[in-house]
Amino acid sequence: MKNIVLFGPPGAGKGTQAEILKEKYQLVHISTGDVFRYNIKNATELGNLAKSYMDKGHLVPDEVTINMLKAEVEKRPEANGFIFDGFPRTEAQAEALSDLMEEKGTQINGMVALEVADEILVGRLLERGKLSGRADDANEAVIRERIAEYYRKTDILKSYYQKQDHYHGVDGVGSIEEITQRLCEVFDRL
Ligand code: ADP
Repeated sequence: MKNIVLFGPPGAGKGTQAEILKEKYQLVHISTGDVFRYNIKNATELGNLAKSYMDKGHLVPDEVTINMLKAEVEKRPEANGFIFDGFPRTEAQAEALSDLMEEKGTQINGMVALEVADEILVGRLLERGKLSGRADDANEAVIRERIAEYYRKTDILKSYYQKQDHYHGVDGVGSIEEITQRLCEVFDRL
Protein backbone atom coordinates (compact mmCIF):
# COMPACT_ATOMS: atom_id res chain seq x y z
CA MET A 1 0.00 0.00 0.00
CA LYS A 2 1.09 3.54 -0.73
CA ASN A 3 -0.50 6.15 1.54
CA ILE A 4 0.41 9.74 0.95
CA VAL A 5 -0.57 12.97 2.66
CA LEU A 6 -0.76 15.74 0.07
CA PHE A 7 -0.16 18.87 2.08
CA GLY A 8 -0.13 22.62 1.66
CA PRO A 9 -2.02 25.80 2.54
CA PRO A 10 -5.46 26.62 1.07
CA GLY A 11 -5.09 27.23 -2.65
CA ALA A 12 -1.79 25.36 -3.00
CA GLY A 13 -3.27 23.09 -5.67
CA LYS A 14 -3.77 19.88 -3.70
CA GLY A 15 -7.15 19.02 -5.22
CA THR A 16 -6.03 19.59 -8.81
CA GLN A 17 -2.90 17.51 -8.42
CA ALA A 18 -4.63 14.74 -6.41
CA GLU A 19 -7.10 14.19 -9.26
CA ILE A 20 -4.18 13.59 -11.67
CA LEU A 21 -2.04 11.53 -9.30
CA LYS A 22 -4.82 9.19 -8.16
CA GLU A 23 -5.18 7.98 -11.78
CA LYS A 24 -1.47 7.60 -12.34
CA TYR A 25 -0.83 5.68 -9.11
CA GLN A 26 -4.27 4.01 -8.80
CA LEU A 27 -4.89 5.42 -5.35
CA VAL A 28 -8.12 6.47 -3.67
CA HIS A 29 -8.31 10.24 -3.21
CA ILE A 30 -10.03 11.46 -0.05
CA SER A 31 -10.54 15.22 0.20
CA THR A 32 -12.05 16.20 3.55
CA GLY A 33 -13.14 19.55 2.06
CA ASP A 34 -15.03 17.74 -0.74
CA VAL A 35 -16.73 15.39 1.74
CA PHE A 36 -17.82 18.37 3.86
CA ARG A 37 -19.11 20.23 0.78
CA TYR A 38 -21.05 17.13 -0.33
CA ASN A 39 -22.68 16.97 3.10
CA ILE A 40 -23.48 20.68 3.04
CA LYS A 41 -25.12 20.31 -0.37
CA ASN A 42 -27.25 17.46 0.92
CA ALA A 43 -28.03 19.32 4.16
CA THR A 44 -26.97 16.42 6.39
CA GLU A 45 -26.40 16.91 10.11
CA LEU A 46 -22.64 16.72 9.49
CA GLY A 47 -22.96 19.28 6.69
CA ASN A 48 -24.87 21.76 8.82
CA LEU A 49 -22.31 21.49 11.59
CA ALA A 50 -19.31 21.79 9.23
CA LYS A 51 -20.83 24.79 7.47
CA SER A 52 -20.91 26.85 10.65
CA TYR A 53 -17.12 26.56 10.90
CA MET A 54 -16.24 26.66 7.20
CA ASP A 55 -18.20 29.88 6.61
CA LYS A 56 -15.92 31.61 9.11
CA GLY A 57 -12.73 30.14 7.66
CA HIS A 58 -12.20 27.97 10.75
CA LEU A 59 -11.37 24.29 10.98
CA VAL A 60 -14.14 21.82 11.75
CA PRO A 61 -13.55 20.24 15.22
CA ASP A 62 -11.11 17.32 15.28
CA GLU A 63 -13.49 14.70 16.62
CA VAL A 64 -16.02 15.30 13.85
CA THR A 65 -13.36 15.38 11.14
CA ILE A 66 -11.52 12.31 12.39
CA ASN A 67 -14.73 10.22 12.56
CA MET A 68 -15.65 11.28 9.07
CA LEU A 69 -12.21 10.45 7.68
CA LYS A 70 -12.27 7.00 9.30
CA ALA A 71 -15.67 6.30 7.76
CA GLU A 72 -14.36 7.32 4.31
CA VAL A 73 -11.36 4.99 4.63
CA GLU A 74 -13.62 2.12 5.78
CA LYS A 75 -15.75 2.54 2.65
CA ARG A 76 -12.80 1.52 0.47
CA PRO A 77 -11.47 -1.84 1.71
CA GLU A 78 -10.20 -2.70 -1.79
CA ALA A 79 -7.92 0.36 -2.00
CA ASN A 80 -4.28 0.05 -3.05
CA GLY A 81 -3.55 3.10 -0.98
CA PHE A 82 -4.81 6.61 -0.38
CA ILE A 83 -4.02 10.21 -1.18
CA PHE A 84 -5.19 12.23 1.81
CA ASP A 85 -5.99 15.80 0.76
CA GLY A 86 -6.88 18.29 3.48
CA PHE A 87 -6.21 15.77 6.25
CA PRO A 88 -4.49 15.84 8.69
CA ARG A 89 -4.74 19.54 9.50
CA THR A 90 -3.92 19.36 13.22
CA GLU A 91 -1.56 17.34 15.34
CA ALA A 92 -4.51 15.38 16.85
CA GLN A 93 -5.59 14.45 13.32
CA ALA A 94 -2.04 13.33 12.44
CA GLU A 95 -1.99 11.06 15.51
CA ALA A 96 -5.41 9.63 14.62
CA LEU A 97 -4.27 8.96 11.04
CA SER A 98 -1.17 7.19 12.22
CA ASP A 99 -3.29 4.98 14.55
CA LEU A 100 -5.77 4.23 11.78
CA MET A 101 -2.99 3.18 9.39
CA GLU A 102 -1.49 0.98 12.08
CA GLU A 103 -4.86 -0.71 12.70
CA LYS A 104 -4.97 -1.52 9.00
CA GLY A 105 -1.44 -2.96 9.10
CA THR A 106 -0.04 -0.15 6.97
CA GLN A 107 1.51 3.32 7.37
CA ILE A 108 1.87 6.78 5.88
CA ASN A 109 4.70 6.63 3.34
CA GLY A 110 5.20 10.35 3.34
CA MET A 111 3.85 13.87 3.39
CA VAL A 112 4.31 15.71 0.11
CA ALA A 113 3.85 19.44 0.55
CA LEU A 114 3.10 22.03 -2.13
CA GLU A 115 4.91 25.23 -1.19
CA VAL A 116 3.35 28.51 -2.37
CA ALA A 117 3.75 32.07 -1.05
CA ASP A 118 0.74 33.58 0.78
CA GLU A 119 0.06 36.45 -1.63
CA ILE A 120 -0.10 34.00 -4.56
CA LEU A 121 -2.55 31.89 -2.56
CA VAL A 122 -4.93 34.79 -1.95
CA GLY A 123 -4.92 35.64 -5.66
CA ARG A 124 -5.58 32.04 -6.70
CA LEU A 125 -8.42 31.59 -4.21
CA LEU A 126 -10.13 34.82 -5.29
CA GLU A 127 -9.87 33.66 -8.92
CA ARG A 128 -11.29 30.24 -8.02
CA GLY A 129 -14.11 31.95 -6.12
CA LYS A 130 -15.30 33.61 -9.32
CA LEU A 131 -15.82 30.23 -10.98
CA SER A 132 -16.37 27.58 -8.33
CA GLY A 133 -19.23 29.07 -6.38
CA ARG A 134 -17.44 28.10 -3.17
CA ALA A 135 -18.67 30.48 -0.49
CA ASP A 136 -15.34 30.34 1.37
CA ASP A 137 -13.49 31.54 -1.74
CA ALA A 138 -15.76 34.50 -2.46
CA ASN A 139 -14.69 36.65 0.46
CA GLU A 140 -11.14 37.91 0.98
CA ALA A 141 -11.55 38.13 4.78
CA VAL A 142 -12.55 34.44 4.94
CA ILE A 143 -9.62 33.51 2.68
CA ARG A 144 -7.18 35.36 4.94
CA GLU A 145 -8.72 33.70 8.00
CA ARG A 146 -8.20 30.25 6.41
CA ILE A 147 -4.55 31.08 5.81
CA ALA A 148 -4.23 32.34 9.40
CA GLU A 149 -5.88 29.13 10.66
CA TYR A 150 -3.36 27.19 8.58
CA TYR A 151 -0.45 28.92 10.36
CA ARG A 152 -2.11 28.52 13.79
CA LYS A 153 -2.93 24.82 13.59
CA THR A 154 -1.67 23.09 10.47
CA ASP A 155 1.79 24.39 9.54
CA ILE A 156 3.20 22.63 12.63
CA LEU A 157 2.62 19.29 10.89
CA LYS A 158 5.70 20.00 8.75
CA SER A 159 7.93 19.47 11.74
CA TYR A 160 5.75 16.54 12.90
CA TYR A 161 6.52 14.69 9.65
CA GLN A 162 10.08 16.05 9.39
CA LYS A 163 10.87 14.37 12.70
CA GLN A 164 9.85 11.05 11.17
CA ASP A 165 11.84 11.87 8.04
CA HIS A 166 8.58 11.87 6.11
CA TYR A 167 8.39 15.46 4.87
CA HIS A 168 8.97 16.25 1.19
CA GLY A 169 8.54 19.85 0.02
CA VAL A 170 7.76 20.59 -3.63
CA ASP A 171 7.67 23.99 -5.33
CA GLY A 172 3.95 24.62 -6.01
CA VAL A 173 4.44 27.53 -8.44
CA GLY A 174 4.47 26.77 -12.18
CA SER A 175 2.19 25.11 -14.72
CA ILE A 176 -0.05 22.21 -13.62
CA GLU A 177 2.08 19.81 -15.71
CA GLU A 178 5.36 21.04 -14.24
CA ILE A 179 4.06 20.61 -10.72
CA THR A 180 2.68 17.12 -11.48
CA GLN A 181 6.14 16.20 -12.77
CA ARG A 182 7.80 17.44 -9.57
CA LEU A 183 5.29 15.53 -7.43
CA CYS A 184 5.78 12.32 -9.43
CA GLU A 185 9.51 12.43 -8.80
CA VAL A 186 8.74 12.32 -5.06
CA PHE A 187 5.82 9.82 -5.29
CA ASP A 188 8.02 7.38 -7.22
CA ARG A 189 10.47 7.26 -4.35
CA LEU A 190 7.86 6.70 -1.61
P1 ADP B 1 -8.79 24.68 1.08
O1 ADP B 1 -7.57 23.83 1.35
O2 ADP B 1 -8.82 25.22 -0.29
O3 ADP B 1 -9.05 25.71 2.12
P2 ADP B 1 -10.60 22.43 1.58
O4 ADP B 1 -11.58 22.13 0.53
O5 ADP B 1 -9.53 21.43 1.84
O6 ADP B 1 -10.06 23.83 1.16
O7 ADP B 1 -11.35 22.70 2.97
C1 ADP B 1 -12.36 23.66 3.10
C2 ADP B 1 -12.76 23.82 4.57
O8 ADP B 1 -13.20 22.55 5.11
C3 ADP B 1 -11.63 24.25 5.52
O9 ADP B 1 -11.45 25.65 5.52
C4 ADP B 1 -12.16 23.72 6.86
O10 ADP B 1 -13.16 24.54 7.40
C5 ADP B 1 -12.83 22.41 6.47
N1 ADP B 1 -11.87 21.28 6.58
C6 ADP B 1 -11.36 20.56 5.56
N2 ADP B 1 -10.51 19.62 6.02
C7 ADP B 1 -10.47 19.76 7.37
C8 ADP B 1 -9.77 19.12 8.43
N3 ADP B 1 -8.91 18.11 8.19
N4 ADP B 1 -9.99 19.52 9.70
C9 ADP B 1 -10.85 20.50 9.97
N5 ADP B 1 -11.53 21.17 9.02
C10 ADP B 1 -11.35 20.83 7.74
